[in-house]
Amino acid sequence: MSHTKEGLVVQDVLEHAKTYIKNDDELQFIEQAYLFAKEKHAGQYRKTGEDYIIHPLNVAMILTTIYADYQTIAAGFLHDVLEDCDCTSEEMQEKFGPEVTKLVQGVTKLSKIHFSTENEYLIDYYKKIIVGMSEDVRVIIIKLADRLHNMRTLWATPPDRQKVKAKEALEILAPIAHHLGIHKIKSELEDLALRYLKPDVFYDIAEKLNKTKLERDRTVVDMQKEVSDLLTEHHINHEIKGRAKCIYSIYNKLNKGKKFSDIYDLLALRILVHTEQECYLALGIIHSKFRPLPKRFKDYIAMPKPNMYQSLHTTVFGIDGYLFEIQIRTYDMDEVAENGIASHWAYKENKGSNKTANLQSTTEQKLQFFKSIIDLSKDKMSSEEFVNSVKDEVLNNNIYCFTPKGDVIELPRGATPIDFAYKIHTKVGETTTGAIVNNAIVPLNYELKDNDIVRIITNKNATPSMEWINIVKATTTRNKIKNFFSKNEKEVYIERGKYSLEKELRKKKLSISEFLSDTNLKEIYEEFKMDSLEDIYLSIGNGKVSALSIINFICKEQDTPQPKVVKVTAKNMDADIIVSGIDKVKVNLANCCCPVYGDDIIGYITKGNGITVHRTHCHNLDMLETRTLEVHWNTNVNKRYLTNLLIYSNTHENHMLELIQTISNMNVSVDGINMMSKVGTILYSASVYVTGLDQLTKLLSTLEKQPYFDHAERMMR
Ligand code: MN
Repeated sequence: MSHTKEGLVVQDVLEHAKTYIKNDDELQFIEQAYLFAKEKHAGQYRKTGEDYIIHPLNVAMILTTIYADYQTIAAGFLHDVLEDCDCTSEEMQEKFGPEVTKLVQGVTKLSKIHFSTENEYLIDYYKKIIVGMSEDVRVIIIKLADRLHNMRTLWATPPDRQKVKAKEALEILAPIAHHLGIHKIKSELEDLALRYLKPDVFYDIAEKLNKTKLERDRTVVDMQKEVSDLLTEHHINHEIKGRAKCIYSIYNKLNKGKKFSDIYDLLALRILVHTEQECYLALGIIHSKFRPLPKRFKDYIAMPKPNMYQSLHTTVFGIDGYLFEIQIRTYDMDEVAENGIASHWAYKENKGSNKTANLQSTTEQKLQFFKSIIDLSKDKMSSEEFVNSVKDEVLNNNIYCFTPKGDVIELPRGATPIDFAYKIHTKVGETTTGAIVNNAIVPLNYELKDNDIVRIITNKNATPSMEWINIVKATTTRNKIKNFFSKNEKEVYIERGKYSLEKELRKKKLSISEFLSDTNLKEIYEEFKMDSLEDIYLSIGNGKVSALSIINFICKEQDTPQPKVVKVTAKNMDADIIVSGIDKVKVNLANCCCPVYGDDIIGYITKGNGITVHRTHCHNLDMLETRTLEVHWNTNVNKRYLTNLLIYSNTHENHMLELIQTISNMNVSVDGINMMSKVGTILYSASVYVTGLDQLTKLLSTLEKQPYFDHAERMMR
């Protein structure tokens, strides 16, 4: 986009608008808005010394370059009138109607907040952006145009304010433009921001680009001709464009450790064709003549980016030894690539119909960014958490991972498979037991990388682990897990209490229904100060009372009076772990090392979530601070423990069946088995329930005795 046009007049804007707005009334409406703004701003000046109206004129002009509808352009003209001039919203509403007035009010609300790195301002800012966006995404688009023009004239601002404005543009507005897919505005904002934030870097890159420009331009033109002839030969109608390099994106790549020569030696072409089919045809034809660089092909047509971007990307060895980055897309895709969400104004199928509704619903339906931000605003969290989440999880450079079906999932950097699972669906997250990334099993705390293909292994009976709260990256995920526990804790205890009472009754060969007769219940309520059956289960489940003491109280089996309400001591607690010196504490078995009965164990005191029990040698303990304490197995408990095994075979033949048989012959139950091929042989991972270390050791040695299994071991994460 060109820089501020001095002497820009309303006719320029109207000329531009006329290229896509055909309705005379709408064009007149735009002109009226201009005249009104001009009158209201009369006598006001910009810091650049120009008449103030030059600003709204430029904003309106920018809006026409992304094909804004007439009301948005009008609001562009009027966007500073309510704030800076003597004009009430009633007056505006009377002249331009409620819709335009609402847009202007939205923008005004946003401008009232002044950016500051202090969180309390940021909170307000983000919240207003969110509200603005959920009401009408056009408010944000006008704000982007407003800021773009202000950035173009930033030279007139005092130097100390320049950096503040540039930082805001780079950290908040450019990411929003990116997520809305408005590439034009995003890249110009970034380049302008860099110029003020790091002028030396900016001019250094610009100069290097300039120096080599002639040679590169010549090569690009030559390559362009060769490719074009090739496509014409195959009767593909097309257009080829060279591509401008954004300085900021070069700066970014340099920051990621790439060499300047690798970046600027990479030349770029963009090919536009008419149909999706032609995209693939063109790709094949180009690859048949120019050897593609391995692993550089990306099909964003089949798998669009979360901001709706579609295109084929490939890198080929072109002429003169230069590498060429080639993008192939249809004209429609190009429109979306440049203007993103704004391109929905220009879509042919809804010319004349309700374009605004379409723009808004497209935003809400298609942009994950929008959903995430709305999700976050619904979560209960402190303002500071909210700001950090928006920054880390929505605005910052996120990673994109794929489901095995190819759906793109956008995640914050540092996200784990658990975050991925929850992003697909809360239910998937809650039943996650494992993850396979790019065909290899990974631990659940694995840090996902861009473009990872992630398969989540679930088990419908599985539930989240408390420990996940410390593992996951996204605040939304963390909140969902916390929700699960606060919702489920009680239910889980009740369930557990019911189970142990019934188990004890069966052991003693007592009828459950007889035991729970009204008379008995009444006695129990009185004795134990309870008031419902649920209460009884809950008290047993959370260890306040043991099932046995209730049974004994009713049956009065023993002569010696049993303590009726027992203070929790480890022995009568129906838990499998005894924590010395502590009565009531939540205990979880860590799912990284999956301790089983008989293992040497140690407790780790989590922040607010009880104690997690690890095996003494678990490597995760090294990372945890030294908040450990002694724990022991409760010998009274009869339980099975889930643990994970890795079984190495020595063949590529499938012995899954034998594996399952061997395991179940030993009276061990299988929770799940997965197969992964290693080079030439197959590796199995199995989750099994064992009674303890003795059984587990036997199982491992039995497996190793099988002819086709080399080695079996416990899996540590
Ligand atoms: Mn403005």
